[in-house]
Amino acid sequence: MKILILGGGPCGLGAAFRLSELQHQDWKLFEKNNYWGGLSTSFTDHEGFVWDVGGHVLFSHYPYFDNVMVTVLNPKDEWLYHEREAWIYMQDRFIPYPIQNNIRHLPKDIFWECLQGIIQVNCNPTNKKPENFSEWVDACFGKGLTHWFLRPYNLKVWAHPLESMDWKWVGDRVSVVNLERVMNHYIYEKDDISWGPNSTFRFPRYHGTGAIWNLLANQLPQDKLFLNHEVKYISTKHKTVTFTNGHVEYFDYLLSTIPITVLIQLSDIHNTALPSSSLLYSSTHIVGLGLKGNPPDHLQTKCWMYFPEDNCPFYRVTVFSNYSPNNVPDISTQWSLMCEVSESEYKKVNHHDVISDVIQGAINTGLISSRNQIHHTWYHFVEKGYPTPSLNRNESLLPLLNSLASMNIYSRGRFGAWRYEVGNMDHSFMQGVEFINMVTHGTDELTLWYPEIVNSPHPSGKKRLFSGSKTF
Ligand SMILES: Cc1cc2nc3c(=O)[nH]c(=O)nc-3n(C[C@H](O)[C@H](O)[C@H](O)COP(=O)(O)OP(=O)(O)OC[C@H]3O[C@@H](n4cnc5c(N)ncnc54)[C@H](O)[C@@H]3O)c2cc1C
Repeated sequence: MKILILGGGPCGLGAAFRLSELQHQDWKLFEKNNYWGGLSTSFTDHEGFVWDVGGHVLFSHYPYFDNVMVTVLNPKDEWLYHEREAWIYMQDRFIPYPIQNNIRHLPKDIFWECLQGIIQVNCNPTNKKPENFSEWVDACFGKGLTHWFLRPYNLKVWAHPLESMDWKWVGDRVSVVNLERVMNHYIYEKDDISWGPNSTFRFPRYHGTGAIWNLLANQLPQDKLFLNHEVKYISTKHKTVTFTNGHVEYFDYLLSTIPITVLIQLSDIHNTALPSSSLLYSSTHIVGLGLKGNPPDHLQTKCWMYFPEDNCPFYRVTVFSNYSPNNVPDISTQWSLMCEVSESEYKKVNHHDVISDVIQGAINTGLISSRNQIHHTWYHFVEKGYPTPSLNRNESLLPLLNSLASMNIYSRGRFGAWRYEVGNMDHSFMQGVEFINMVTHGTDELTLWYPEIVNSPHPSGKKRLFSGSKTF
């Protein structure tokens, strides 16, 4: 049984890792770039600053993934451990994330407006099932919070109207409002700072997030791994993959982690395949600011910050030198900020001006006090950054995945499966592992088909698996 893997990001490397663990002999992995990691790679710029492709925080829903991570980097000295400090910058102040539990920090009139909305949805909950993400946000958070934070922030990050998005992907990713908690925090002047599934996280001491995937690739049989191999054509009829350098490979099973829309375009079924037009995505501009001096007091311990307002183009900024002192050449005299700007058909960005707009936004929001602080900038553009959980996504996706599977072609990973809710590094890695388990042992692929189980914080997942149905 010959298994070919396309793409050397976490999903492809997860599959390769599992094949190697099972001592399966007949497999090969091909990656178009000259580096491993895909979207989870890291770059070192000409000044020696390290950058990720946007703020990458490693957390895990899987004991298997945790075990792999401690074999890749030594838990004693190669990982750094952080308590997540996420903040929102709005109304000229920083508010701890999640905002819904910390609205006491807002100006009084806005605080009251948000509280009224929360009281309203708590006292008069609607029985109507939301039709889209916009309705879900209104129903869960109330008018005030939606107006001041949720609508502008989500528009900024997703770059698509909330009305065109589904809400069922939310799972454990958004903290919904608990009136009692809001009131308790107000009265006792308390904050919720580390809510959620990634309240603590670890980060490689050296070379950024990409170090994880480089080191993992180094552990695999090198004669089966091929960089600089870009897929040009896939024949589903002859079960072959042709690369741009002329190399051709035969397969029994093909695991593709390249975007499913690209996979279809590159194959002989591009005329007959079902339409993939409902598969929306957004692009991401990453602007790194390499800075002189030290972070100001208010950024000394922050990890990342969300920006809902239009005084800056970015939706999120990471104080990247706080993740590891080695992300800059000399932590005593340098620090760094990594800013993310989204783009889509719906939300255009002027590529020419994006760096200067980011710098102006950093000044407007008090992240830096002047341009003189900037030593240099770094820029990276990702065409496909976020797979949008759009309303008709599943109707397009399921027939596509099924028709490919009938030809022994399996599309998995962040854009291979196009499911944002299981599109993080741990999910993508496990999609690769579980695909191999399915092919070799016939087991179900939990991550792809049962996102709410893998994202569930309760170990009761198994029960739901056996009684539940696929949530597609
Ligand atoms: C801005 C941003 C922030 C993120 N933050 C986090 C986070 O905080 N935590 C987290 O866990 N995850 C985060 N992620 C997600 C993380 O990057 C992905 O989960 C992960 O990289 C997906 O792995 P993958 O292997 O499925 O896909 P990819 O990483 O996209 O890998 C696919 C691979 O296929 C290769 N390929 C494409 N076309 C071809 C071709 N024609 N021929 C050969 N090879 C090809 C690509 O070069 C790539 O290496 C973030 C992503 C972005 C964009």
